[in-house]
Amino acid sequence: MISVDKALEQILGAIHTLGLEKVPILDALGRVLGQDVTSDRDIPPLPNSAMDGYALRFEDTRGASREKPAVLTVVDDVRAGRISKKTIRRGHAVRIMTGAPIPKGADAVTRVEDTEKDGDRVRVFAPAKKGLDIRPAGEDVKKGELVIPKGKVIRPAEVGMLAALNRSDVTVHRRPKVAILSTGDELVDLGGDPAPGMIMNSNSYSLAAQVAECGAVPLRLGIARDTREDLMSKFEAARGADLIVTSGGVSVGDYDLVKDVMGELGAMRFWRVAMRPGRPLAFGAIKGTPLFGLPGNPVSVMVSFEQFVRPAILKMSGFKNLFRVTVKALLKENLEKVAGLRFFLRAVVEWKDGKYYAVTTGEQGSGILKSMVKANGLIILPEDVTSMKAGDEVTVQLLDRSFETASKPWNP
Ligand code: AMP
Ligand code: MG
Repeated sequence: MISVDKALEQILGAIHTLGLEKVPILDALGRVLGQDVTSDRDIPPLPNSAMDGYALRFEDTRGASREKPAVLTVVDDVRAGRISKKTIRRGHAVRIMTGAPIPKGADAVTRVEDTEKDGDRVRVFAPAKKGLDIRPAGEDVKKGELVIPKGKVIRPAEVGMLAALNRSDVTVHRRPKVAILSTGDELVDLGGDPAPGMIMNSNSYSLAAQVAECGAVPLRLGIARDTREDLMSKFEAARGADLIVTSGGVSVGDYDLVKDVMGELGAMRFWRVAMRPGRPLAFGAIKGTPLFGLPGNPVSVMVSFEQFVRPAILKMSGFKNLFRVTVKALLKENLEKVAGLRFFLRAVVEWKDGKYYAVTTGEQGSGILKSMVKANGLIILPEDVTSMKAGDEVTVQLLDRSFETASKPWNP
C-alpha cells in the first residue's frame, strides 16, 4: 500500500502531455494553447476616432468657449469603415464617427457635445489638445507582439482576440480520449430491467460525466463480465484511447479479476492506496496507455477519480494547474477516524460571516452515492489524525465551482 502523495507522484510521473491539433477558435474554449500567438498586424490598423464629433487641427480651436466659439468649415463626413479623401487644412473640420480613420491633417477630435452644427459650418465650444480622442494605430496590439503565450487556457477573451487577429483556427493540446469500462456480473445498463440482485451500472455514467467535466472525451465501453476473457477483450476494445479507466474488480473478492488481468498483462504499477474511500486503486499501463483500475463502490470510484484521474487528464490536456481549489474551514462536528489512511469525507461547505464552515453529509459509506449528491466539497483528514473536534480547522477540497463564487463575496 502506498500513500496518496506517492501514488499521485507516480501517476503524474507516468503521464505525458498530449500533442497538438488545430481547431476552430470556438472549439478551443477551455483548452490549452499549444503555440504562441503573435500578431501579424496593428490593431487598430489606423489611427481612428474615439468619439462621435469633428476631426480638426487642435490649433484652430485655441481659446474656444461657449461665448467665443471657433467656427470651422465642415469639408467631409466620415463614418467607421470609410476613409476620407480630404486633407484637413487650416479652418477645416471633418464630421467623424467613432472608429472612423482620422483624415490627413487632423490632429484631434472634438466630441459632438462640445459643438453645434450650422449648415456647412460647425461651432466648436472647447479647445482641443493635440491627440485628443484619437486612438493611435496599434493601441491595442502592435504588429509582431506576442499576444497570447502558449500554455494559456483559452477563455472568451482569448477567443475574441483570435478573431480580432483574423484567426479562424488555433493550435491547442488534444483532448484525451478516455475509455471507461465497468466490470461486474451484477451490472445492468440503462434501459435494462434489473433482475433481483442486479444493480444499475451507474459508475460508467458518473465517470463519463467526470471525464467530460475535465474537458476530455469519454468513450463508454459498457460492461465487462467478471471473466478473464471478457476483461481481455474489452481491454482490446480500448485500443486507441489515451487513457483507460475501469471500475470494480480491484478488491480482494473471488471475482475481482481486474487486478489479476492487469498483472498478467504486465500492466500493474501499484495497487492499493492509503485512503478512504478508494483504497483498492490499481494503476499501471497497457502497451503504453495509462490504466486506472478504480474501485467499484459508487463513492470510491468518484473520489478516486477526483484525486488521481482528474489531475492526470488535466496534465495530458496541457494544463499547469491540476488540482481543485482547497480552503480552510471550521468543522461543525466531532469526527473520528483510523490512523494511517487519508480520509475524504463528503461535506457541505458554507461561507458565513467571513469564514468557511464544513459539516459531513451524514453516513459516509462508500456505497452511499447520495453523499456525493449532497456534497459540494471533500473534507481531507490527514493520515496521522485520529479525531477532530467541532471548531477545529480542516482542509476542504471544493468540488463545485459555482459554490466558490455564489457564496463568497468578491469584495474583500
Ligand atoms: P467490486 O469492487 O467489483 O466488488 O465492487 C464493489 C461494489 O461496487 C459492489 O457492491 C458492486 O456491486 C458495486 N459496483 C461495482 N461496479 C459498479 C457500477 N458500475 N455501478 C454501480 N455500482 C457498482
Ligand atoms: Mg465486481
